Amino acid sequence: MNPHEIDLHKELKKYFGFDQFKGLQEQVVKSIITGNNTFVIMPTGGGKSLCYQLPALVLGGTAIVVSPLIALMKNQVDAIRSLSSEYGIAHVLNSSLNKTEVNQVKKDITSGITKLLYVAPESLTKEEYLQFLNEVPISFVAIDEAHCISEWGHDFRPEYRNLRNIVRQLGDVPMIGLTATATPKVQEDILKNLDMPNANTFKASFNRPNLYYEVRTKTKNIQSDIIRFIKQHKGKSGVIYCLSRKKVEEIAHVLQVNGVSAVPYHAGLDAKTRARHQDMFLMEDVEVVVATIAFGMGIDKPDVRFVIHHDIPKSLESYYQETGRAGRDGGEGHCLAYYSYKDIEKLEKFLSGKPIAEQEIGFALLQEVVAYAETSMSRRKFLLHYFGEEFDDVTGDGADMDDNIRNPKTKVEAQDQVVALLKVVKGTKQLFKSKEVILALVGKVNAIIKAQKIDTQPYFGSGAGFDEKYWMALTRQALVDGLMTKDIETYGVLKLSKKGEAFITNPSSFMMSEDHEYNEEGDEAIVT
Ligand code: ADP
Repeated sequence: MNPHEIDLHKELKKYFGFDQFKGLQEQVVKSIITGNNTFVIMPTGGGKSLCYQLPALVLGGTAIVVSPLIALMKNQVDAIRSLSSEYGIAHVLNSSLNKTEVNQVKKDITSGITKLLYVAPESLTKEEYLQFLNEVPISFVAIDEAHCISEWGHDFRPEYRNLRNIVRQLGDVPMIGLTATATPKVQEDILKNLDMPNANTFKASFNRPNLYYEVRTKTKNIQSDIIRFIKQHKGKSGVIYCLSRKKVEEIAHVLQVNGVSAVPYHAGLDAKTRARHQDMFLMEDVEVVVATIAFGMGIDKPDVRFVIHHDIPKSLESYYQETGRAGRDGGEGHCLAYYSYKDIEKLEKFLSGKPIAEQEIGFALLQEVVAYAETSMSRRKFLLHYFGEEFDDVTGDGADMDDNIRNPKTKVEAQDQVVALLKVVKGTKQLFKSKEVILALVGKVNAIIKAQKIDTQPYFGSGAGFDEKYWMALTRQALVDGLMTKDIETYGVLKLSKKGEAFITNPSSFMMSEDHEYNEEGDEAIVT
């Protein structure tokens, strides 16, 4: 059938029972059925699966869906089978199948029954499968969780790097990349690695207006603080994330003895206990799950009312993903993170054993977490900027839903300082990261400043009236306000935007608030 003649609403109803497309789905589906390389960036729950499932069902041939997790694949296949068993079949091809099962899958593909074939990236490299897939009609290849391709994503998988070459061997069919986490850097990596610079790109907003973001200082009283918070949210479901299994056990215990119904969840518990605890949470036999990041994959409880981070996570992608489990029904969702710089140092220590490239990326991601935690500007604006999205912190949807907006710090005029900052960026030929720019401002040297003779320039020390912390805060705000950008290639070199260039010659008011000070660190005491 001519793709332009397909009645997509009818097909949507027929296969999925839905009356309307959600968000950008219709445009994405159209892009795919007309044979275009397509890139889809939608937050979790945005409805990505349908974007490739519907085209697969209406097009001739079989669509290959590359997915990193066998468990997730199985869920998807079961779901699609239950929706449309009479029309088409979804299959999994992976190492868990025996010879007979593999033959059955091949038979169904050859006879045209199989519309969706889920494979793990490593299965796709198998010569036997490749040869077979080369001989059957393939409608397109969808690459789910496409951020796995990027070292800057939160789940880098080297096998994903090979996908482009493999797809070429299949006759260069259209490709669809899908992801729920995409900073501009990751997006660029995906498009580059899949070699589809001109792909039709569809990006949904990552704004979750019903989530309230709050950061509190982590002090020795954290446990009583958490208990108080939970008691204020009595009868509501919540998740508490901790970094270690030991901490999970400890907090779960402390909550239990303090009369909060809570269960632990981490990969060190046996599968039966994990499943039981998850069910207890879903069935509301307990109010709180205390968990490591092992908890959450595929959890679809719509009325999680709070997500607490006992320990700050290692990247803002993880933070966004984990807090995103709150308020999926559109109702209240309080996201509370406890922050202490000591935790950042712990995370840095974890990184120190890793290969250099991975360490550098890890440090850069951590710096963003620090910046988020310490900022006094709209947290929502900060997070969305991180994902490459503009947000108006006065009129935007959910603008008042964070602690910094509800309890603002006094703002001070910083117009002259912004000009000084931009002039140093310009004067140093837009070749340096914030560290060197700030050293140049305050008039301090390091090896790079010396080597580049920055200390002999007229602007050296032009910002000596303020300390490095002040300049760091101002740099972040200037970035979020779009006066500068961070170069994507180097992830950090500061560049002036057009708006920034204009600001130097024609400055206007720039109100800034200094970052929060978090200095009440201390060891935790167990409250029993
Ligand atoms: P993602 O993969 O982006 O996290 P899913 O594909 O799992 O999202 O979809 C999230 C939920 O939205 C699912 O429960 C799905 O059935 C539902 N959904 C998807 N598309 C539609 C639609 N057009 N109308 C109503 N519900 C939809």
